[in-house]
Amino acid sequence: MMPSPLPVIRLKPKANARAIRHGAPWVYDNELVTDRRTKALVPGTVALLEDAGREPLALVAVNPASRIMARVLDRDSGAEIGRAWLAARLRAALALRERLYDAPFYRLVHAEGDGLPGVVIDRFGDIAVIQPNAAWAERLLPELVAALLEVTGVQTVLKNASGRARGLEGLDDASEVLAGRAPDAPVPVQMTGATYLADLTAGQKTGLYYDQRPNHAFAARLATGARVLDVFSHVGGFSLAALAAGAEWALAVDGSEPALALARGGAERMGVADRFETRKADAFEALAALAEEGARFDLVICDPPAFAPSKQALEAGLRAYERVARLAAPLVADGGVLGLCSCSHAADLARFRAASLRGIGRAGRAGPLIRTGFAGPDHPQHAHLAETAYLKALFFRL
Ligand code: SAH
Repeated sequence: MMPSPLPVIRLKPKANARAIRHGAPWVYDNELVTDRRTKALVPGTVALLEDAGREPLALVAVNPASRIMARVLDRDSGAEIGRAWLAARLRAALALRERLYDAPFYRLVHAEGDGLPGVVIDRFGDIAVIQPNAAWAERLLPELVAALLEVTGVQTVLKNASGRARGLEGLDDASEVLAGRAPDAPVPVQMTGATYLADLTAGQKTGLYYDQRPNHAFAARLATGARVLDVFSHVGGFSLAALAAGAEWALAVDGSEPALALARGGAERMGVADRFETRKADAFEALAALAEEGARFDLVICDPPAFAPSKQALEAGLRAYERVARLAAPLVADGGVLGLCSCSHAADLARFRAASLRGIGRAGRAGPLIRTGFAGPDHPQHAHLAETAYLKALFFRL
């Protein structure tokens, strides 16, 4: 039996068909002929994208409710988007991670960068946490989960529906257990010499920030014998890596007491709790208070949440990054290092660096940029999407 023909959507004559042929992953609503039939497609429908001359371009997932109205699934328009196709993408993603890491703790799927638009999967041993942040993935979730169990052998699959993008796709925020049983305690994760406790059911994001792994490692290299301040610490990403590398002492500051409790739990498991302190506070207030106290550190890291989550929030976000730099720089001992991070894709590297320099300058400090870090390779960037290069980490020696 012939498969039923897919719905067809078509580019406007002026739209850039060549970009799609060269691998661009997204088609915006203003590039498409949006007739009544297209607008009526159920969000997440798989369709055939054609150019204005009716030549097939790609298989796409359509969401008429989203500004990104079509996401390229496969440039082979003869592909069949189902369990086997999903399994093939997952196998490719897994092969890369297995080459990169000794243990199965990593981001397994980084959305467009792994050919699964809008899908994020973090792996914690035999548990996977999936964020289906696009309508097509929500529709194909049973097939995706089946493929995930088959390819990776994980026992448990948790759905985290807290992603901001889900709202833009018209999806709800109901998290649930999709396979196996939710863990009843935080999961210990060995990374960069530290033990982190990841809360996979109530935590932020999917429990742990794997993206910072190479930057944790770089900071840890500088940390031997150092006094370390880890601001916006979450479960102790930078501070526990620093303690594992022989830091003399570390202070973690975060607004979330549950995150700090997990950080202390990790420090206990590592046997470094006597060198570790936490402070639950607003980071801006804590930085000002530490300056008042005359505190100085050899290494100060600030890794705030996305202050510029969208283009509209860019200016306010850049001011916030500048303020962090201005408040943190005075706490760095002479010859010490200040690490400033941004996970805002709207604030590109040049803008974030300029904002950081303004803040450092206004604090009356200066010094060379010794390293610019990015997310680790388990967060591959789609080569056509600068947006996925969201994480930047600048290390200044002051
Ligand atoms: N540095 C961490 C990740 C940080 S995520 C790592 O390497 O793993 C950002 C953290 O900032 C979250 O834990 C959140 O609770 C905290 N946060 C957000 N706004 C804050 C504020 N105004 N003051 C203090 N902490 C804040």
